[in-house]
Amino acid sequence: SGSNSDEKVYQIATDTTFAPFEFQNKDGDYVGVDIELLAAIAEDQGFKYELQPLGFNAAVAALESNQADGVIAGMSITDDRKLKYDFSAAYYDSGVVMAVSASNDTIKSYEDLRGQKVAVKTGTEGASFAESIKDTYGFELVYFDESPFMYEDVKTGNTVACFEDYPVMGYGITQGNGLKMVTEMEKGSSYGFAVLKGKNAELLEKFDAGLENIKESGKYQEIIDKYISAE
Ligand code: GLN
Repeated sequence: SGSNSDEKVYQIATDTTFAPFEFQNKDGDYVGVDIELLAAIAEDQGFKYELQPLGFNAAVAALESNQADGVIAGMSITDDRKLKYDFSAAYYDSGVVMAVSASNDTIKSYEDLRGQKVAVKTGTEGASFAESIKDTYGFELVYFDESPFMYEDVKTGNTVACFEDYPVMGYGITQGNGLKMVTEMEKGSSYGFAVLKGKNAELLEKFDAGLENIKESGKYQEIIDKYISAE
């Protein structure tokens, strides 16, 4: 087929471990909803890309410093972010939930966090939510760059709880991450693919067109069903 050497290869930044949206399988290959959606959309639209698994905050930083053309990382479409980024159509609904160690029977509500340390992931919607209630409930935040480090800290008891996206915590619990959810999900934002505001409009258009096509073809639902079991 002969590839054109000056054909654009988009750099797409993602999180390192945010199952079931992006994570490494036993062979070390990146898999998950975001990874497969991007692959299917790129195939449908005929564009080339390189995946950069950097971590969530680092992926967003790479976008801001023009080292990445786009981010797909279970990234919530929030009003604040819309000032800095252009988002695709939403492709998955999410929200934020509090989780504690499976063996913890004392932390059951935000009130129980008074005087305690709570784990959050830098730059995330979960962190923003925790920041918004920490003074009301009197707890202190400890920041982590990766979701698994945050869960580990809760399990060792350094922090008593963490705030994470509901679909990610739900999946993690079924995979035996040793945590449990103790509060209702806080209404959060849906996930979208992001580019820097006013940049890469062509890439964003392709993403949206491809997303629509794979929804029509059934491929989108096939990917969701592969990673997320219906309740
Ligand atoms: N959905 C959350 C956000 O956008 C968390 C994303 C992530 O940790 N990969 O802030």
